[in-house]
Amino acid sequence: MTISQDLFNRAQTSIPGGVNSPVRAFNGVGGTPLFITKAEGAFTFDADGNRYIDYVGSWGPMIMGHNHPAIKQAVHEAVENGLSYGAPTEAEILMAEKVKELVPSIEKVRMVSSGTEATMSAIRLARGFTNRDKILKFEGCYHGHADSLLVKAGSGALTMGVPNSPGIPEDFAKHTLTVSFNNLDEVKAIFEKYADEIACVIVEPVAGNMNCIPPVEGFLEGLRAVCDEYKSVLIFDEVMTGFRVALGGAQAYYNIKPDLTCLGKVIGGGMPVGAFGGKTEIMDYIAPVGPVYQAGTLSGNPIAMAAGLKSLELLSEPGLHDKLEAISKAICEGFEAGAKKAGIPLTTNYAGGMYGFFFTDAEKVTTYQQATECDLERFKRFFHLMLEEGVYLAPSAFEAGFVCAAHTEQEVKATIEAAERAFAKL
Ligand code: PMP
Repeated sequence: MTISQDLFNRAQTSIPGGVNSPVRAFNGVGGTPLFITKAEGAFTFDADGNRYIDYVGSWGPMIMGHNHPAIKQAVHEAVENGLSYGAPTEAEILMAEKVKELVPSIEKVRMVSSGTEATMSAIRLARGFTNRDKILKFEGCYHGHADSLLVKAGSGALTMGVPNSPGIPEDFAKHTLTVSFNNLDEVKAIFEKYADEIACVIVEPVAGNMNCIPPVEGFLEGLRAVCDEYKSVLIFDEVMTGFRVALGGAQAYYNIKPDLTCLGKVIGGGMPVGAFGGKTEIMDYIAPVGPVYQAGTLSGNPIAMAAGLKSLELLSEPGLHDKLEAISKAICEGFEAGAKKAGIPLTTNYAGGMYGFFFTDAEKVTTYQQATECDLERFKRFFHLMLEEGVYLAPSAFEAGFVCAAHTEQEVKATIEAAERAFAKL
């Protein structure tokens, strides 16, 4: 028995399913999850001493690579002054100023401690601001696990086969409308039906929780126009795409300005952080200046701010996002070429530092339906073959892959060669 297997058996006696977040349990691919002991640059190391080229990157935040020395140093320095005060600090102002500078649609920003809190709070704010109850989301998009958002959700909910979770009263869920991602006609039709009842549209501008599906041309522009027409709040959930697809997020990459933006993961550089921000007019509707309540004991935590500020500073290096996109492109092209050689139908998508690959005959995957119709059994086998090769891919066909600045040409080449051998065995 491996040490990971032993730890997993032990974990299951005191933690539900042995994990603190479902996808980690490898339910989407079968087998035993690896227990990680440390991570450095492009690599993670498991309890059995194996080294893996990592394309999970803590599900996104590790854009600079794991355990970056400058981020570690910033955390060490912050720890010297105490772990939390529950009172304002200058670091929070610096963080807010940095976020505003990098994401120009954000005029004011509130820090929280997770992506879930960011989306949940942004939705409440949009509802309070518009005095409307309904929200519109897209099938297969995941926005954290707040009640009203676990309707036709992606990510772990989709991997586990529970896109609509039990435990959410019908009375809550009935206010969540869902339509197909990348389908503007459905959006227009639902707005015609509910006109001035829809408080907001929340969307992952590049969907990353049903594998990786970028917006088709005109989709985000169309959402902006519809929201303007019906005075509904447009929320971009950039928890995954923020500072990854481009320095200014997907909104910079596609040049569309949302009213509110949700951020997470990346800003904390690996610490538990989230944020939501946008137009002053809307943001000033939250407490203590406005009537919509929102709060958090550990929000703006000084250690998290230190890690995040250093991460954002490093991410601002000119050319970094071009480099990330070049890595995504190389992996996609390498996988497509390798699969073709082995006679395996495969297509890929990428945007900036995130990518996805699909075992399907389709030329391009642009919809949730297509993503769910891919060959999941083939994905499972490929995942395990890659793991044997020392490459750690996201353990679900419904998650995007993440590249980082520490993936050098050498790791990318090794990954593509590993994939070629894996395709040949499929
Ligand atoms: N929104 C998106 C787009 C996400 O990808 C995630 C997490 N994967 C969340 C929200 C929720 O973030 P958290 O897990 O930090 O609560």
